[in-house]
Amino acid sequence: EKNAPSNFIRNIVIEDLKTGKYDQIITRFPPEPNGYLHIGHAKSIVLNFELADEFNGKTNLRFDDTNPLKEDKEFVEAIKEDVKWLGYEWDGLFFASNYFEEMYNRAVLLIKKGLAYVDDLSAEEIRETRGTLTEPGKESPYRNRSIEENLDLFERMRKGEFKDGEKVLRAKIDMASPNLNMRDPVLYRIAHATHHNTGDKWCIYPMYDFAHPIEDAIEGVSHSLCTLEFEDHRPLYDWVVRECEMENTPKQIEFAKLNLSNTIMGKRYIKQLVEQNIIDGWDDPRIPTISGLRRRGYTAESIRNFIREIGVAKSNSTVDYQMLEHFVREDLKLKAPRTMAILRPLKVVITNYPEDQVEMLEAENNSENPEMGTRMIPFSREIYIEQDDFMENPPKKYHRLYPGNEVRLKHAYFIKCNEVIKDEKGNVIELHCTYDPETKSGTGFTGRKVKGTIHWVEAKHAIPAEFRLYEPLILEEEQQEGGSFLENINPNSLEVLQGFVEPNMKEAKPQDKFQFFRHGYFNVDPKYTTDEKKVFNRIVSLKSSFVI
Ligand code: ATP
Ligand code: MG
Ligand code: MG
Repeated sequence: EKNAPSNFIRNIVIEDLKTGKYDQIITRFPPEPNGYLHIGHAKSIVLNFELADEFNGKTNLRFDDTNPLKEDKEFVEAIKEDVKWLGYEWDGLFFASNYFEEMYNRAVLLIKKGLAYVDDLSAEEIRETRGTLTEPGKESPYRNRSIEENLDLFERMRKGEFKDGEKVLRAKIDMASPNLNMRDPVLYRIAHATHHNTGDKWCIYPMYDFAHPIEDAIEGVSHSLCTLEFEDHRPLYDWVVRECEMENTPKQIEFAKLNLSNTIMGKRYIKQLVEQNIIDGWDDPRIPTISGLRRRGYTAESIRNFIREIGVAKSNSTVDYQMLEHFVREDLKLKAPRTMAILRPLKVVITNYPEDQVEMLEAENNSENPEMGTRMIPFSREIYIEQDDFMENPPKKYHRLYPGNEVRLKHAYFIKCNEVIKDEKGNVIELHCTYDPETKSGTGFTGRKVKGTIHWVEAKHAIPAEFRLYEPLILEEEQQEGGSFLENINPNSLEVLQGFVEPNMKEAKPQDKFQFFRHGYFNVDPKYTTDEKKVFNRIVSLKSSFVI
């Protein structure tokens, strides 16, 4: 595997260890369990785990579960599975919800210090009085409640005496701060909702900006890595750590999010696609969730290598999807057995081949990796070839099959097309060819040359198979946050074909990966494959013009 090149965060870590600011590196990956992980999260996972690992530190998996309305156990389990599958082992497994009591106590401390107050303004009123970049905010009329009153009201908020939205707890910082995040941010809100972990124990829940620094500090996190949009929240992060008198002082560092071309990334957008049945669940092979990529056939190694290659920087950019494809091709090139599959079958009868004869031919499993050995494949009088490997009236430079032309069948013989059979509508339904026994593959025949080699599958022993070919789900290359991606859904993002694979594919198991000669890399679909029929997802075609 590739090593990650250095980056500005690694440099900060090296410096902090040198100066003794921290004596151990502790990072965390902090997903909110409100959806499945996507490749953007993989960037955060690789960064956090590999950084700590390099310096003998630790990485926690911490569920940032402070919003009961959107979170669910299903997501907790899926996230754990995906992190493990990507190849990482966490040190501690934590839930923000396990710290609710401690967070509550810290909030009480802020009230006692005169640094937090209960506000009766509605969410709407708070937004309206927040001011703008050029205008200071307006102080709430409830801002100067006494400490005693605030303590009483906050306790009654916890007891459930108020309805959702009736009251909030706000930090008392500075309504004129040039940083809007410092204008008395909300710390707690009321939500009468059942939480996946704490049930109905709580009806007030901490906001991200209050909860996150406390979670980090409780766990002794040294470097708290998050994405750029939290840069202006850093003063608040530091304020919470300081004013809540946390023992540890974690350092927040921001890095650029991963954006990929021709796809949609944010959980809430993917959720919309799932809920509107536009895609086949969170593991649809067309979306870049970790489970979707896995079902498509991406390997964990290819994802890790991709993330290492894109690196970590401080400015946002969009990475070409083809780069991800490049890494899975690289990974599978020497690992995936190469076999023949017919995606759009056309029957060929070899009229001079004896009728009940079947012979076995030897075929290499990977021409670039002889260690993968060979297999035996049947050959007989009837075979399938691809429909587009035949043309009745070919253009110049078409070297595949056409009336009178001879081609090589991969691993087998030369065949020549003599007769074209059509149905009443004039569609070609069968070809009659003859073969030349002298031209058998591997015998060193040099008598004459052909320009085309095509693949095939022997008809009697072929196994029916379904092939799923994908195009980008989103037609627009760059997806704007909050843009109307639903209008840019590619209606041709999935094409389903019925064809055949070689008989030895009977043993193929879900998630096994193959290179189908000339068609690309395919994965056995774990959801739709049955004992009767195998379903193959095309991971990626063979060639790309993309170079890194
Ligand atoms: P989404 O917008 O998809 O819901 P999120 O940031 O809300 O993502 P979280 O579960 O809160 O999702 O994220 C867990 C961690 O993953 C956070 O530290 C977050 O910064 C990081 N992360 C999320 N998306 C990306 C991305 N596209 N690139 C890099 N890191 C990301
Ligand atoms: Mg989120
Ligand atoms: Mg988000």
